[in-house]
Amino acid sequence: MNRSAPYPWKLPAALAVALLAGAVLGWLAGGHVTAAIAVVALAEIVLLLTPFGHTARLMMRAPAPINPIQHDRFMTRSRRLASNLRDLRNAASQLPDAVVLIDQKQNIRWFNHSAENLLGLQRPRDRGAPLQQRLAGSALSDWLREGAVEPLNDAAAPGQANSHINVSLLPFGEHEQLLLARDISHLSRLEQVRRDFVANVSHELRTPLTVIHGYLELIDPEDVPELAAVISEMRAQSKRMGQIVEDLLTLSRLETQHAVADERVPMSGLLATIRKEAEALSQGRHTIRLDASTDADLLGSAKDLHSALSNLVSNAVRYTPAGGSITIRWKRTPDGAVYSVSDTGFGIPASHLARLTERFYRISSSRSRDSGGTGLGLSIVKHVLNLHQAQLQIESTPGAGSTFSCHFTAARVLAPATSDES
Ligand code: ADP
Repeated sequence: MNRSAPYPWKLPAALAVALLAGAVLGWLAGGHVTAAIAVVALAEIVLLLTPFGHTARLMMRAPAPINPIQHDRFMTRSRRLASNLRDLRNAASQLPDAVVLIDQKQNIRWFNHSAENLLGLQRPRDRGAPLQQRLAGSALSDWLREGAVEPLNDAAAPGQANSHINVSLLPFGEHEQLLLARDISHLSRLEQVRRDFVANVSHELRTPLTVIHGYLELIDPEDVPELAAVISEMRAQSKRMGQIVEDLLTLSRLETQHAVADERVPMSGLLATIRKEAEALSQGRHTIRLDASTDADLLGSAKDLHSALSNLVSNAVRYTPAGGSITIRWKRTPDGAVYSVSDTGFGIPASHLARLTERFYRISSSRSRDSGGTGLGLSIVKHVLNLHQAQLQIESTPGAGSTFSCHFTAARVLAPATSDES
């Protein structure tokens, strides 16, 4: 049977009623036969062609009769569906991760038990409440206000002192969103233990290394010519160890830091210093160019920015064979400003690019060691840039060279100081 077929008598009956009503209305309106015909015609057109008519026609359709077997099947399916829905809801309620369903206006529609513990939400008080308001004063609230584009890592849990969470916001349904928060307190503590360990070991090594280095400097190889080569190697290695310890301490400091000093960093001076350092390191083996098309300054930590930006130039010198060229650029972009270092050196195969900023990651350990590297330089660069909300971009062609670019947002770029300010 065709369920959607209207009962055969309903449409003619409705038309008859419309005709009659139209005729009466037409007659009442003007008392003329032509007016009555016009209104009747209009009523028919409305009924047959317009959405109103469509709705009326739909209303006239008979409900599909359901036989008892269909009815039983329907009821069984509905019960199964309801039970599945209950199970799903119970499972979501018991998830160790906090789950909050929010609508288009970020009002809370539903949340599970973990959301009560981790985010401090309360039932039934917070159903329908604006999520941002309920999380006011926490990092999550700022993150939501700023659009929650990227996941929020290692934030303090608003509902539980000393707990740390990773939070992300996912699209759900047509206009809703799911906020997911995972308790990472355990991982955070392990990470803290690791950081403390590295910082403590580095700190403990610093003093003995300084002593060893000091004594090595006191020994004159001319007094013991047979040991001259050994002394020279020992000096080089103790210097290298000292540099590794210093880099590890710098990394430990950067890792625990959440913000940097907001000081004006005069770029013209910094660029000139970096160029001089590069020339000293290159000792005439490379052509070094500086191309600064803006005199804008940066806002941040002068010491950390110097360390990061000069690191890129020192890498360019160390990984470019003699005769190559290195170009340092500083330019404005529509989004802020970019500092970049291009070289015509060995280049980096694409498979290594994603891991270059990991600690001690090197493409060739011997080349890094021979050139005086510690394997920590790019890791420091990444941390310094993160603290300045800047991004590192690496482009490279093996055998042709590389470009390392630091993209600073407009908020970190300052117009040059006037003579009164400086
Ligand atoms: P390192 O002290 O070993 O130079 P970095 O963290 O500064 O440590 O760099 C990591 C690795 O990235 C280096 O060992 C090197 O293999 C590669 N690298 C960095 N800069 C360049 C460059 N400009 N050209 C080619 N390879 C580079």
